[in-house]
Parts: sequence; structure tokens; C-alpha cells
Amino acid sequence: MQKVSVDAGFTCPNRDGTKGTGGCTYCDNRGFNPSYCNPDKSITQQIQEGIEFHAVRYRRTKRFLVYFQPFSNTYAPLEILKEKYSEALTYPGVAGLVIGTRPDCMDEEKLNYLSSLAKKWYIQVEYGVESHNNKTLKRINRGHNSEVAEEMILKTHDHGITVGAHYIFGLPGESTVDMFRSGDVISRLPLDSVKFHQLQIVNGTRMQKEFQDHPDDFHSFSLEDYIDFIIRLTERLNPSIVIERFTSEMPPVFLTGVNMGLIRYDEVLRRIEAELEKRDTFQGKYYA
Ligand code: SF4
Repeated sequence: MQKVSVDAGFTCPNRDGTKGTGGCTYCDNRGFNPSYCNPDKSITQQIQEGIEFHAVRYRRTKRFLVYFQPFSNTYAPLEILKEKYSEALTYPGVAGLVIGTRPDCMDEEKLNYLSSLAKKWYIQVEYGVESHNNKTLKRINRGHNSEVAEEMILKTHDHGITVGAHYIFGLPGESTVDMFRSGDVISRLPLDSVKFHQLQIVNGTRMQKEFQDHPDDFHSFSLEDYIDFIIRLTERLNPSIVIERFTSEMPPVFLTGVNMGLIRYDEVLRRIEAELEKRDTFQGKYYA
């Protein structure tokens, strides 16, 4: 099973003025889009090109999850969502959808619809949560607090929909103690999966300016520091939650501040696994 990303042309309430303008201070969606993703193309064309793109690397893959990735993919009237999701689900070999969105872009009507789809297909909603520290969420201009995210994760789970969440470690003003606290909240939530990312400060974002003005407010991880942190976090994490990612990767040329350099994700994962073995430890070892 392979994920194929599509850009359905949605925007985000934190950019269009509904919640705020300018977006989250770290936001730069340019960096997250594979080349075949382009909202000028139909969903069908993007899936077709995405499958061709992945065919080189994953030759035996026969089934796909369509990943509605950039911006907020439930931020539209239900009728539009139905049209976009249905087009994706009718493509041959598609087994389901992964829908990235904000927790404040979901409501009962949309959950009911997704719940009906989930009876036939794999449907996962992936919420950008980033932190469970409200002070941090305010500082990065997320436009929602932790309580909104927690409530929507619970509701999504209660509707029988697979639910994931995305977190960033190293946000300004956060100590590692704050990050471990977020980890404890994650463990208490009915999450099926999480994606963890180290903060990467992208050139041209508002956060770049903030970093230049207040570098001491940032806990910048070196690769070794991050591996140590992520292992200690994993030891405390509820073992029933699947960790889909430990880091993100972006070419250093786009970045400012401390970063992990040109190391590929596969190599980071190999080092995390080696360190877990060396310490004779595992996910949930200290989960209570
Ligand atoms: S919610 Fe996502 S798309 Fe919207 S501003 Fe924040 S990071 Fe950007």
C-alpha cells in the first residue's frame, strides 16, 4: 500500500482571514508538495501521475491511499468535499483516503459523512495539532488551542474514523519538559497514529525572523540530541499508538538555524532503531 498525495486546491482559514492571516508562523506549504501535486490538474490526473512517480521505487505496490495533503482538506462545503473524495475513491486500486486538516475545520456533518465512507474504505483524518501547550500554540499563531484539538480527536474516534495527529518538537518557548508533557497528553488520547517532526525553520517564513531576533527561545536539536529526545519520548508513549514518522526532511538550502543536514529519513530511522536496541528499550516501556 502506498500513499499518493494530491492537492485539491483547498486553502486554510488561518491564511484567508477567517481565523487569521499570514498562517502559522512556520508555514510554508511549498516545501511539502511532491512535484506531481498541482491543483490545476484534476484529482484523477494527480493520482495517475503519482502512481507513475511511485512505480519506479515501489514496483510491487498495487493499492493506494490518496493523501489529501497540503493546506486544510476539509475546509469547504460538504458538497465540494464529496465531489473531491468520490473522484479519488473511484480510481482503480484506491483503498481509501488520508485527509490532512486542522481540528477546527471539522464538524458533525463532515464526520457523519466520513463515518459512512469508513464502512467501506480506509478513512484516516490527520489533524495538525503541533503541540498541546496553549502558550506555544498562541505564539506560533495556530488559531486554535489544545482543547479544540483534543475534543475533535475524541469525536473523530467516536465516529469510527481512524485518527492521526501531527506534532512538531522544538517550537519557540518550549523546553523538553513541555514537549514531554505534550507526549503525555498524546498518550491519553484515542489516537491511532502520530507523526513527529523536529522543527525546521524555512527561509522566508515569519519564524525565520523570530529566530533571528530571539535565537535563545528555540530548542534547536542536533541529530544526536533529537534521537535521544525521541527515544525518551517513545519510552513514555502509549504503545498502542503507531508512530508513522519520527522526523521530517527538507534540503538544508531552504532552512535556517540548526538542522540535521542532508541525512535521509531512512538513515535517521536506522539510527533510532539501533539506539533503541543499544539501550534495550522500546515504545511504552515507561507508559503508565
Ligand atoms: S494550518 Fe497548515 S496550511 Fe494553515 S497556516 Fe497553519 S501550517 Fe499553514
